Amino acid sequence: MADKKTILITGGAGFLGSHLCDRFIAEGYKVTAMDNLITGDLRNIEHLFRHADFEFYHHDVSKFVHVPGKIDYILHFASPASPIDYLKIPIQTLKVGSLGTHNLLGLARAKKARMLIASTSEVYGDPTVHPQTEEYYGNVNTVGPRGVYDEAKRFQEAITMAYHTYHGLETRIVRIFNTYGPRMRLNDGRVLPAFIGQALRGEDLTVFGDGSQTRSFCYVDDLVEGIHRLLLSDYSGPVNIGNPSEITIGEFAEEIIKLTGTKQKVIYQPLPKDDPKQRQPDITKARKLLNWEPKVGRAEGLRITYEYFKSLPRELLFARDHKDFGSYIK
Ligand code: NAD
Ligand code: UDP
Repeated sequence: MADKKTILITGGAGFLGSHLCDRFIAEGYKVTAMDNLITGDLRNIEHLFRHADFEFYHHDVSKFVHVPGKIDYILHFASPASPIDYLKIPIQTLKVGSLGTHNLLGLARAKKARMLIASTSEVYGDPTVHPQTEEYYGNVNTVGPRGVYDEAKRFQEAITMAYHTYHGLETRIVRIFNTYGPRMRLNDGRVLPAFIGQALRGEDLTVFGDGSQTRSFCYVDDLVEGIHRLLLSDYSGPVNIGNPSEITIGEFAEEIIKLTGTKQKVIYQPLPKDDPKQRQPDITKARKLLNWEPKVGRAEGLRITYEYFKSLPRELLFARDHKDFGSYIK
């Protein structure tokens, strides 16, 4: 029997990384997850530890990365992803996108592995083109609060493409649009866990600004399918993966109120600086190249995610965020 394919997944204890670990274990790969747990949680992958084809390294990928043995694929997903996370740890965010990516590209080269990086719709900044196609260069405030994330990701794309063109490395770039599902951190500040957490605690839902800004939410299983297809494709340019179904944040709050049956109301708080006013992926490329499109509608995806949040221990609901970045801030 041929050797099993091996895959290294950085950020493997995070929301998306843990779902990717599940998927590649199910596909029969040997999976190595690597994570420093700065925003992730071992509970997301603890069910995998008994699996013979799964291993975990507790490591910061912004420092030199060594993994023994062969590696066929690397998925680089390590990075804080929620605005409140990367505002709290801006330097680590810049480092994991730049130094971390450089380390992993070096590892990919040494192992002759194919590397896929998790880029983001944030490379488009506050977009002036709508919906966003991969050809749009974006509108990013480099020195604004979100610049640490957006520019790390833009650098990440640039160095990945340079390794592709200069070293001939096999690379893939996925631009991920807002994705949600089970294992999001209840208090990570992103809009969906924020609203559901507030509903479950009996608090009012905090809409930032007047709620007219839009997002397009993709259910995690659809995203994972798109990433799997992209990894195995032969296309090295950036590809948007997301669900084009767009909604205002005000309407989204109403959907959560209906879903949860909460008696609470919406309250309005100031819009954070540089918060993108609109966001919707143009997925023509993913449809054509990968024959991919999302299958899970928001009603179904939200229902599954709500069930997950309801199943969490109550103390988590009332705990302040379990993430204390203190020990990481140098
Ligand atoms: P997450 O915070 O749940 O996961 C990120 C993981 O990376 C965490 O487990 C964290 O501990 C780990 N990590 C961070 N810095 C690290 C370092 N230096 N070394 C090792 N591990 C480190 O966030 P997520 O939503 O799962 O996002 C995963 C990736 O997908 C990120 O790269 C993010 O930028 C990208 N992305 C996510 C979304 C989304 O909607 N969820 C959208 C666009 C892009
Ligand atoms: N948002 C909100 N209330 C919250 C959290 C977020 O109105 O409690 C808004 C936020 O201002 C943004 C949108 O919801 O317009 C999505 O925010 P999120 O942090 O989930 O992701 P982003 O797409 O901004 O990175």
